Amino acid sequence: MDKRELLQRFSAYAPLVDTDMLGKAYDYSAKSHAEQARASGEDYFSHCAAVADSLIDWKMDLPTVCAGLLHDVIEDTSVTPEKLRQNFGEEIAKLVTALTKLHKVQFSSRDDAQAENWRRMILATAQDIRVIIIKLADRLHNMQTIEYLTPEKQERIARETISLYAPLAHRLGMFEIKGQLEDLSFAVLHPEDFADLEAKVRSRLPAREAMLTEFRKMLEHALSKSDVPHRILARSKNLHSIWGKMQRQKKPFEEIQDALGVRLITDSVANCYALLGLLHTHFQPVPDSFTDYIAHPKLNLYKSLHTTVVGPKGEYIEVQLRTEEMHRTAEYGIAAHWRYKTGEAAKDAHLEEKLNWLRQWIEWLQDLDSPREFLDSLKTDLDLYQVFVFTPLGEVKALPVGATPIDFAFAVHTDIGQTCVGARVNNKMVKLDTQLKSGDICEILTKKNSVPKKDWLKVVKSARARSKIRHYLREKGIAA
Ligand code: MN
Repeated sequence: MDKRELLQRFSAYAPLVDTDMLGKAYDYSAKSHAEQARASGEDYFSHCAAVADSLIDWKMDLPTVCAGLLHDVIEDTSVTPEKLRQNFGEEIAKLVTALTKLHKVQFSSRDDAQAENWRRMILATAQDIRVIIIKLADRLHNMQTIEYLTPEKQERIARETISLYAPLAHRLGMFEIKGQLEDLSFAVLHPEDFADLEAKVRSRLPAREAMLTEFRKMLEHALSKSDVPHRILARSKNLHSIWGKMQRQKKPFEEIQDALGVRLITDSVANCYALLGLLHTHFQPVPDSFTDYIAHPKLNLYKSLHTTVVGPKGEYIEVQLRTEEMHRTAEYGIAAHWRYKTGEAAKDAHLEEKLNWLRQWIEWLQDLDSPREFLDSLKTDLDLYQVFVFTPLGEVKALPVGATPIDFAFAVHTDIGQTCVGARVNNKMVKLDTQLKSGDICEILTKKNSVPKKDWLKVVKSARARSKIRHYLREKGIAA
């Protein structure tokens, strides 16, 4: 993409922002990387431009797009952080520095280097979320061009992508990017399964499209009598999540319930409920299929109404109803908060509050001793398969699979964790190493002056509990 096109694409959503800095970053990056080539043989700069292009797709602000163009200059060229600061100011220089990896020579192994780099990046993300958004754009392009690397490198990068980057994108609510990263990794790690599944999904497509068209026609007809503004979008699952379902349920593709999916987008929350009413009037809802993520948003900011209705041929159709605003958040997650609204930075008043969970989580991770322990905890905490356990007052805590009442106690409060001596799960006394299940109601028994036990480290699963226990033992001079 040439410079003029890039500036135009940016100005299309941020017409009032001066693009001088962006043009300067473009030239500076192109000049700095001039001597370098990618494994594909292309100019290195094409990678930087592709990263900036994705960030523009996500409608990110000016410093983020500039940092996207410049993200590899410190790591790969002779440009120093100081020089970058002089040319582009503190904000952009800081973003680029946070994206610069430490060199492998400083570590005894690749694992240690990877762990330390992750730790640095997550800590920088706590200061400025845009760091991880740029990193995701970087990884996306690296995955799109992975075919030029050796098979060993491909596998290593795809593994890291699927175990860390994709779940992180999920946590940040960036579902669109998560799906892309998963499918690109899936194609590298299981090429035969990928090709097989892709062919099967493609062969099912015409029949599904016919059903969808018919449903859509009926729906449009039903909605035409109302004046609720709406648009209807079809949606499909990414290949990796279908494959994941096959693995978990140990079923072939043909037996996987992969309901048709439709999105109904409207202008206001009230109209989401109005459309839901109309939908349920004209199509039979499937019992217990309704979930209200507007009244109860997910931790990653996701909001929508979910319901499943019976279609014209008796097939199940999953419908998600949401406003345009919710739709943007669902596709772009946290990144949606940096988007411009008519040229001005749209600062979300509640953003800080919404980011608190991420910061908190990062705080626990900081307490861990070694980078490797950090990376292990990160993987466990990012695991998408979590259990949801309730306090006796009905407050829900999300915990990693295999979590114990000790994890739960620390999730409620550090003091409760520290002084925990027993637990009741669903009104029955249980041992502290019992694995909790989703839906369990857990009550923690505490005793004043009781202290954490070293053995707890063998059974806890969450980063928070692990970090708090270690912290205590360290303070008391007990080796863990
Ligand atoms: Mn890069």
